[in-house]
Amino acid sequence: MAISRRKRSQITRTLVTTGCGAFLLFTASRIFSAPVEYGDDSSESAFSQDTIGNLLGKKIDWHDYRLIEAESKRTGPGEQGNSVILDAKESEGLGRLFSSNGFNALASDKIALDRSIKDIRHKDCRTKKYYDRLPSVSIIVPFHNEHWTTLLRTAKTVLVRSPPKLIKEIILVDDFSTKEFLKSQLDEYVRENLPKTRVLRAKKREGLIRARLLGAKAARGAVLIFLDSHSEVNTNWLPPLIEPIALNYRNVTCPFIDVIDFDNFEYRAQDEGARGAFDWQLFYKRLPLLEQDLKHPADPFKSPVMAGGLFAISSKFFWELGGYDPGLDVWGGEQYELSFKIWQCGGAMYDIPCSRIGHIYRKFCKKLIASGTRKHDSN
Ligand code: UDP
Ligand code: MN
Repeated sequence: MAISRRKRSQITRTLVTTGCGAFLLFTASRIFSAPVEYGDDSSESAFSQDTIGNLLGKKIDWHDYRLIEAESKRTGPGEQGNSVILDAKESEGLGRLFSSNGFNALASDKIALDRSIKDIRHKDCRTKKYYDRLPSVSIIVPFHNEHWTTLLRTAKTVLVRSPPKLIKEIILVDDFSTKEFLKSQLDEYVRENLPKTRVLRAKKREGLIRARLLGAKAARGAVLIFLDSHSEVNTNWLPPLIEPIALNYRNVTCPFIDVIDFDNFEYRAQDEGARGAFDWQLFYKRLPLLEQDLKHPADPFKSPVMAGGLFAISSKFFWELGGYDPGLDVWGGEQYELSFKIWQCGGAMYDIPCSRIGHIYRKFCKKLIASGTRKHDSN
């Protein structure tokens, strides 16, 4: 994408007038004040190498080919993102677990925490390069009574599938869970098995929004990434998600959210992108992409409203916006609050096709619980 002349001269002016541009080129604060934006046609580099390129280094191939190769050979329950179908005996006792989690927790328990999943990105994503010097991120995962293996898998896949230098920390925010295993057992597991990860605990039940705020306040990374506590990040998810934010700290990005089947843990796409919107009753809607979005299927495209659960935002912009309204008690609505503030305060929101994260869309359904597993109506 071509950067406008005005923007370019703005950048040059900024660098020259600092008088010590060469030094500042290497500091994160300069990266985050660079006034570069994606335009409507985000098909090419957002800037020329001789300006902001110096700040962010060269474009490199961030793929971890050793990991990709190793993962392609894995076999076992749920590997390659395949479903796990339990037989009747294995499903014994599932009803209670299903009703407390909204998914088949026994199927989850059979699957490795770092299982391989399908790389279902658009093929053009395989050859995309991203800037070398990207900011580090704090991953914030609020949870209330999350199931053990789904919570740990969320953290584990982040650690396995992210370039270590980009991960500042993972903060698991316990929103006053009552399940016993989420207390000292979790602390101990995290301490011994999950580097860079810590558990922060709310002193009372706060609800998702204030739990996220708690995590955001404690975060030390330049970029905040919010994930639900039952997510799995996919191949090379991180660089494409944070590059737009490195280009402009007011860019906010959302990954493509894939489906982890609540019943059998199959990993699959929900679709190949949509623009987020809402109807007159403020129900979230996914609208078809525009012609211009489809021209470059591996490039970021603008979206009016985020789905809300999984996204990345610079800490600086998040707090400039005042974070979330802490009076929000229950989820559903917070995505409008933040989306409107982003657009109204000079920000922009992009969906990132090359960054994919699976999420369990939970299902609380009496009929399903009664019938054990697999068969359900989807209403
Ligand atoms: N959550 C929380 N406190 C609550 C309710 C939810 O911390 O009171 C967490 C939950 O564990 C999950 C995230 O907030 O990580 C979003 O909740 P949920 O997955 O239930 O929302 P959905 O994805 O179904 O919209
Ligand atoms: Mn969720």
